[in-house]
Amino acid sequence: MSRDTILDNAQANYLRAKEMLCSEFGEGLLSKIQEPKERIEFRIGPQLRDGKIRVFKAYIVRHNDAMGPSKGGIRMTPGVTLADVTGLAMEMTWKCALMGLPFGGGKSGIVADHHDLCEHDKETLIRSFTRGAHRHIDPQIYIPAPDMGTNEADMGYIKDTIAYSEGVSSTHGCYVTGKPVILGGIPGRREATGSGVVMTTVKAMEKLGMNVEGARAVVQGFGNVGSVAAKGLYDLGVKIIAVSDLNGAVRNDAGLDIPAMIAHEAASGGVSNFAPSEACDGKEMLELPCDLLVLAAAESQITEESAPRISAKLIAEGANSPITPAADEILAAKGVEIIPDILCNAGGVFVSYLEYTQETQNEQMTEQQVHQRLAERMSRRFAEVSTLAKEKNLHMRDAAMYLALRNVCNALIARGTLP
Ligand code: NAD
Repeated sequence: MSRDTILDNAQANYLRAKEMLCSEFGEGLLSKIQEPKERIEFRIGPQLRDGKIRVFKAYIVRHNDAMGPSKGGIRMTPGVTLADVTGLAMEMTWKCALMGLPFGGGKSGIVADHHDLCEHDKETLIRSFTRGAHRHIDPQIYIPAPDMGTNEADMGYIKDTIAYSEGVSSTHGCYVTGKPVILGGIPGRREATGSGVVMTTVKAMEKLGMNVEGARAVVQGFGNVGSVAAKGLYDLGVKIIAVSDLNGAVRNDAGLDIPAMIAHEAASGGVSNFAPSEACDGKEMLELPCDLLVLAAAESQITEESAPRISAKLIAEGANSPITPAADEILAAKGVEIIPDILCNAGGVFVSYLEYTQETQNEQMTEQQVHQRLAERMSRRFAEVSTLAKEKNLHMRDAAMYLALRNVCNALIARGTLP
């Protein structure tokens, strides 16, 4: 499989939407958003706890800022590439535009395996990254957040590193979202992406006439997004019959006890060896007979090769780009409904926006207010995408891309044509 897959997927989705909008906006305007505005590659060389200096590669991509400063998380994985970060930054442009947020799209990558780093070394690496990236991170330029391999604590270190460098106790405005609440973070941010996945899934099940209670679901990935989505669905009476992570997969046809699984994962570092359950193959797990498949792990998990064997009626894309465009076509022909990533997992960036406004205005929001605003926005956007899909006879992904791209084009036009 090509290592450029996330970018390939993002480009293919963009090109389909471009075709629909070309007569309205013209090739010239649309070509402004085909490629990223800025791509930065740099190296950081911190001294780690063992006294040795280690050099890591890092990337920042700002795809577009027509709607506002670029927004997007920091991915820390051993295999992340500049192409991946570019594809993810493109996705962020569409996601923010679809959600109606005053943000453009960006993303960062740090080529490192956080499993190999003790807490102290990970903090050192994050602080090094922040110093290297300082001139690119700004409330009006690029605002990072957590993504795979980074978390709330890391966002706190980013804020502290910037404040320390500037000799102030707190940054002027919001430089990073997804921070601990005690440092200006917002309650409910950690759960926001998974909660948004649950909200859009329930809407899609209603649309398809499926019963939520008693529905059978498979969840791939049991990190931030997957575990929160699994718990939210479990609380609504969905039977989660299988879950997986990078190291294994388990199933129990009678339904897994998800709160117990969360405790097991926290204690053992993975979903494997959970009782009562039996081990299964992570790839084959995606093909189990079920009503709902939640993809909350990584990109390109359903391909042209595996798509014909998928039996779920509904797929929720908690992860970014988990289905390739060729697989999309096969699933569409089979009548599988897909809640596209730029809608399904947009709860995280929406609540990041609330954190940004809260910090900019020195306000404080309660978890209940956050939850209510998230539910309203996810429900409204789901309805808009769904209505357009029906009107234009499009799949949900194309309808979501149409609305997103149209917003970005309108922002570009509103800015005028000056360089
Ligand atoms: P995470 O690092 O917390 O968890 C990832 C989980 O997926 C882990 O359980 C990991 O073991 C598992 N995993 C990775 N590759 C796998 C594979 N091939 N098969 C099975 N399991 C695998 O990351 P996260 O924050 O939960 O992000 C998951 C996905 O959601 C990513 O695509 C990310 O870009 C996307 N996303 C995250 C957020 C957010 O707020 N965290 C927001 C939007 C989108």
